[in-house]
Amino acid sequence: MGTVARFWRETPRRYNLGGNRCAHCGSVYFPPRSVCPTCETHRRSLGHLEPFQLSGDGTIFSYTVVHDAAEGFEMQVPYVLALVKTVEGPLLTGQVVDVDPREVRIGMKVRAVFRKLRAEGAAGVIHYGYKFARVPEEGRPAAGAPARAAVPSRPDAPAVV
Ligand SMILES: [Zn+2]
Repeated sequence: MGTVARFWRETPRRYNLGGNRCAHCGSVYFPPRSVCPTCETHRRSLGHLEPFQLSGDGTIFSYTVVHDAAEGFEMQVPYVLALVKTVEGPLLTGQVVDVDPREVRIGMKVRAVFRKLRAEGAAGVIHYGYKFARVPEEGRPAAGAPARAAVPSRPDAPAVV
């Protein structure tokens, strides 16, 4: 884990993934819930939900490549919007950054990073939040990536959400 740990120590990990956890059954929720739908009777979870900070670690569960930029979003198209299965359980939706959309695949390890989300109008109000960046995998052969010309054409991406 050395390389991965070092890589992430040098990366600012400022994001807000505050969810909560049911002390009764251990289920984790993001965003936080007031009652636990997993407990057989919701009443049993009342008063047992405690703050829980998600690690931001997860894998891509599903994704789609977006070709049209939404107004106000300062992002280059195409970009990848993914459904990420966190290690704690909750599914999060977010943009995957710093990766060629053609390299994204289901099961790819990602981690939440704190990034600029959008700038709002002339006032220039900037919103920040989490996005996802690829976690480099140990022992991945550096020369293993196929040349772009060698990638067979395929339907753009699995549909999502
Ligand atoms: Zn519960």
